[in-house]
Amino acid sequence: MTQLTLRCECGALEGRLKHVSPQSGNHMVCYCDDCQGFAKHVGNEEKWLDKWGGTDIFQLAPADIEIHKGADQLRCVRMKSGGIYRFYTACCRSPIANTISRKYPFVGIPTAVIHGIDKEQALGPVKCYVMGTFAKGTPPTKPHPKFSMKSLFAVMRFMLKNKIRGTNVPTPFFREDGKSVVAPDESVNRD
Ligand SMILES: [Zn+2]
Ligand SMILES: [Zn+2]
Repeated sequence: MTQLTLRCECGALEGRLKHVSPQSGNHMVCYCDDCQGFAKHVGNEEKWLDKWGGTDIFQLAPADIEIHKGADQLRCVRMKSGGIYRFYTACCRSPIANTISRKYPFVGIPTAVIHGIDKEQALGPVKCYVMGTFAKGTPPTKPHPKFSMKSLFAVMRFMLKNKIRGTNVPTPFFREDGKSVVAPDESVNRD
């Protein structure tokens, strides 16, 4: 179990990721259009996506995430109405986290904003490549077109384990009333 640093590109927002290990979370690459749209929304998408449009993500429990500096820089967007909450920073437009709601013990952090000397070991190798139907070209990683059984099982096991532990809270992303700490910008899906 390792502690890693969560940090936006400019360093205005900084926090801690606790209890990180290949067993405690899921290391995945997602090629979905929602993740790609989010990278485009924050800008400089080439920084956040691999050349096939994949986002490298580590999923962990909200209770294992602490933001101790620059939480006021958080901004929120939902790419689709009713879609997942995606957080990024105002300071340097770094993607920070993807999450469903306060009730779910589940946050996906782009590994590009995770730092630490033990990072590679703590995150472990990528377990699953998913939503390959949206990939650009043919990724050598051969992603599953949607979600493989292995990836569904990994996410379900994670959810169940953390539901029992009640690790959906405390969370740096939602208030007690269930609203996100900063109102989501929904204008992206109003055309
Ligand atoms: Zn920043
Ligand atoms: Zn995705």
